[in-house]
Amino acid sequence: MAAGITNRVEAPGKLLDQPLSREAACRLIRCADADLPRLLSAAIAAKERFKPRAITYSRKVFLPLTNLCRDYCGYCTFRRDPGQAGAHTMMPDEVLAVARAGEKMGCTEALFSLGDKPELVFPEMRETLRQMGYHSTLQYLEAMCQLVLRETTLLPHPNPGLLSAEWIARLAAVSPSMGLMVETTKASLLAPGAAHDNAPDKLPARRLRTIEEAGKLGVPFTTGLLIGIGETAEDRVDTLLAIRELHQRYGHIQEVIIQNFRSKPDIPMRDWPEPTQGEMLRTIAVARLLMPEVNLQAPPNLSSPKYEDLLDAGINDWGGISPLTPDFINPERPWPHLDELQRRTESKGLVLRQRLPVYPEFLPAVTSRPGLLAERASAAADSQCYARRAA
Ligand code: SF4
Repeated sequence: MAAGITNRVEAPGKLLDQPLSREAACRLIRCADADLPRLLSAAIAAKERFKPRAITYSRKVFLPLTNLCRDYCGYCTFRRDPGQAGAHTMMPDEVLAVARAGEKMGCTEALFSLGDKPELVFPEMRETLRQMGYHSTLQYLEAMCQLVLRETTLLPHPNPGLLSAEWIARLAAVSPSMGLMVETTKASLLAPGAAHDNAPDKLPARRLRTIEEAGKLGVPFTTGLLIGIGETAEDRVDTLLAIRELHQRYGHIQEVIIQNFRSKPDIPMRDWPEPTQGEMLRTIAVARLLMPEVNLQAPPNLSSPKYEDLLDAGINDWGGISPLTPDFINPERPWPHLDELQRRTESKGLVLRQRLPVYPEFLPAVTSRPGLLAERASAAADSQCYARRAA
């Protein structure tokens, strides 16, 4: 197919005038290289309407509460079975020590990432929890969010997998925002040999339901796509549309992440091709045009060494960056030094600002509820609802 002719990109101004249809988005995401600059111009213009000149990041500590997980995603290097080398569940004193060290380095977010409900399949995890006095991983997570909130100035942001409405409400009482990646709405990736073979928690409908329940409860929510795991460009558009639809109904999507699959030698998908930078740029730009007023993030460490090029596609956030802890999901890809991140952001004429795990426009809903969470969130924020400790 002569993509340069059939997938012609309209003038940037035209693309901004009306909501993007699925058909138009599918055409744009497959545009020819010659048309890419026009797509990127339109995305940048949309981003500048939304958040002029600003690029944010969240200074965080990464707390891998447990790397035991009942799923086996084909691209995951994080998960372990009990007894496997590197299997670990953090104890409360470890959680607190890392959070306090991060506090001293100006961090404002405690990101809890963990496997999905490992106690349902591993008696070892049930025993670990029992010895600490908990019935479930989520109950332990809730207690650790409470601990961090009570003992430090950090704000928790949990990423624990699928959640019921009851658990969303419980975690929302101890964290201003939370997250769950949709990754993809392509359900056939659960088929034998595909990325989500043996990962029942990756059933798209179940993930969308968690995000919908968060919407019903008005909980600021982070989600996003993982691209390059066996989906097509059109599947990426459909995943973005599913997120957009939930946001139109509930207005709670504070951030959409576009994450690119990176191969690692120890994963089942080690021989899969990684998505190209062109695919990343097109996906980000189309996401920006589909959701012009939603915060859009791409992790810089997964696009190094030229990560600043992602700014050309309309992101307005670099996500969580830690000066202290590694990216336990992609340990081979260190986060950029914050001075370097700032230098490269400014090289594009943009200003880097430190935000909280909850985005500024969602903070007032959190601080309006009485209690310790509201007190801590208010104390952490400046007058514009960014992090008080500006970078
Ligand atoms: S990606 Fe998440 S759900 Fe999948 S195996 Fe890894 S920890 Fe478990």
